[in-house]
Amino acid sequence: MTLQERDARHLWHPYTQHQTAAKPLGIVRGKDALLWDEDGKEYIDAIASWWVNPFGHSNEALAKAAYKQLTELEHVLFGGFTHRPAVELAEKLISILPSNQQKLFFSDNGSTAVEIAIKMALQYFFNKGEQRFTVIALENAFHGDTFAAMAASGISFFTEAFADHLLKVVRIPAPVAGSDAAAKALRAAIAAHNPAAFIFEPLVQGAVGMNIYPAESLDELIRIAKESGVLTIADEVMTGFGRTGRTFASNYLTEQPDIMCLSKALTGGTIPLAVTTATQAVFDAFYSEDINKALFHGHTYTANPTGCAIALEAIHLLESEEMQANIQRIMGRHKAFVAHIAQHPKVQNGRTLGVIMAFELKTAENTDYYGSFRDRLYNFFISEGVLLRPVGNTIYILPPYIISDTQLSRVYEVIEKAIERF
Ligand SMILES: *Cc1c(COP(=O)(O)O)cnc(C)c1O
Repeated sequence: MTLQERDARHLWHPYTQHQTAAKPLGIVRGKDALLWDEDGKEYIDAIASWWVNPFGHSNEALAKAAYKQLTELEHVLFGGFTHRPAVELAEKLISILPSNQQKLFFSDNGSTAVEIAIKMALQYFFNKGEQRFTVIALENAFHGDTFAAMAASGISFFTEAFADHLLKVVRIPAPVAGSDAAAKALRAAIAAHNPAAFIFEPLVQGAVGMNIYPAESLDELIRIAKESGVLTIADEVMTGFGRTGRTFASNYLTEQPDIMCLSKALTGGTIPLAVTTATQAVFDAFYSEDINKALFHGHTYTANPTGCAIALEAIHLLESEEMQANIQRIMGRHKAFVAHIAQHPKVQNGRTLGVIMAFELKTAENTDYYGSFRDRLYNFFISEGVLLRPVGNTIYILPPYIISDTQLSRVYEVIEKAIERF
C-alpha cells in the first residue's frame, strides 16, 4: 500500500474536507527547495512549506545543532529549571528584536504565541485593576486556530462554528495607503470599548492572501493605541526572520509594539517552537509578592532545549552574508517579475515585499478561499511540479531563501503559464 492509501485509513488533515479533497501527496524526501513524493516526482517548494522553511529542507547545519543538543540535553522541564539553549536564544533574540522587547515566554506554535500575547494583555489590566476586556483586530486577520487566536482572526468560515463562544473582538479595516479609514475606526473603537489590546500582522496579512500595507499607516495606528494605553501586539509569526527583507516587519516601523509573537521560521522550519516577547512594563505588571498576579500559562515542552538550540543556529544562518544576499536576490527578482506581468490584462494588484510576491488572477469564476478556481490552480501547479497554494484567486510566492535562480525562474514560468491558461 502507498502512504496515500494508508493515510486515508487513519489520518485527519488540517483545513481538509475529506469527502471532496484530493488525496494528500506522500512526501518521502526534501532537500533545499525540493521535495520528492513516493512516486519519485519532484516539486519546488515555493511556499516554504506553509511559510516555515527559509534555509531549505534537510539543512545540515540545523540537523547538526539538533543532534548535538539531543545528545547533550534533549529536554528538561522549564518550571523551576533553565538551560543554556534557552538563555542563549533569549540573549540573541533580545539583541535583534526592537529595543523595547525585554522578556520572552516560550511556547510551541504561532497560535499559542498569540494566545499567550492576548492572555498577557488581558491579565496586564486585570493585575492593575483596570476593566479592559476587548481586543481590537484587523479585518481579514489571521492569528491562529486556538480560541483567543481564532477570536482575533477575521476569516469568517474558519471561526463560524464558534462565533458565540469567543472573546470580544472589535474589527477595524486593514490600513490602505492614502486612506485614514483605519485610523478613524481605531479611534472610534477605543472610545467605545476601552480595549486591552490591538493585535495586527505587521505590513503583510498573510493568510487572507498576502495583503501588503504601508508601515506609516501602521505607525499611526500604534500611536493612536498607545495614547490610550492600549497594548499593541505585533503578530510576526509569518513576517519574522527576514520574510519582509528585514529581520522583522517591525523594523520598518518607528513605533515599537509592546508584545510580539514569533514562530514559523524561528527554528528554520524544523520543529515547533514559538515565543511571545514583551516589554519590561508588561512583565512588571505580573511581578508581585502575590502569586495570583503570575502568568498561569505553560506548556509541557516550553523552551524545549533542542528547539532552542536549532533556533540559535537558524538565526546564525539568517545573519550570514550568504543568506542576506539570497534575500536581496529574491527581492530583486520578485520586483522584476511583478513589473513584467503587471501589464497583463488578467493580472491585478501585483505586489511584493521582501521575499513575498503576490497578485490576483482575474477570473469570472468563483473565487472563494477554498473554491473550485483555487483548486484547479493548485492542481495545475502541482502537476507542473511546483508547490504553490493559491488563496481564492490570489497567487503568491514565499520561497525558501536558498531557492536557486533556476528554480525561481521555473516558478515564474509556471505562473505565467497559469495566467495564460486560466
Ligand atoms: C501561521 C500563523 C499563525 C498560527 O501559527 P500556527 O503555528 O499555525 O499555530 C499565527 N499568526 C500568523 C500571522 C500566522 O501566519
